Amino acid sequence: MGMIRVLGDIFRVLKHIVRQTFSRPFTYFYPFEDREYPERTRGRHIHIRENCTACGQCVRACPVVAIRIDKSDRKYEKDAALYFDYTRCIFCGLCVEACRFNALFHTPVVDLSEPSREALHYDPERIETLEREPLEWRGRRFR
Ligand code: SF4
Ligand code: SF4
Repeated sequence: MGMIRVLGDIFRVLKHIVRQTFSRPFTYFYPFEDREYPERTRGRHIHIRENCTACGQCVRACPVVAIRIDKSDRKYEKDAALYFDYTRCIFCGLCVEACRFNALFHTPVVDLSEPSREALHYDPERIETLEREPLEWRGRRFR
């Protein structure tokens, strides 16, 4: 009876080991692999410049003065360039709420760490795109 119980325990342990060996890990291969965040995540912004009317509501709504607007920098008929300071931003979402022209959104990109504070100042070009430098590790390219 004792022997059968021991064999049963061994079988259960082996089953668990095999299942864990072939199942996907719970952890992510960060930073090479992006975790999927919910759609409503308030990550870094994206500025859809062709929709922008240079109204400045996003700048006025920001409680920490993290956005600067340059109305003289135009790509389209009525738009403006936006500069974001991510050393100040608290990701409250008020600027996105204030924009009535579908020109400013949060994205699910939350990993903003940079080697310097200066790199957290996003210029108009950077805030208009989500493209990032691909990461390489052991000859494999990620992102
Ligand atoms: S999310 Fe909040 S703190 Fe950040 S730029 Fe927008 S209004 Fe300012
Ligand atoms: S992003 Fe929106 S709120 Fe900000 S200036 Fe452009 S249209 Fe106005």
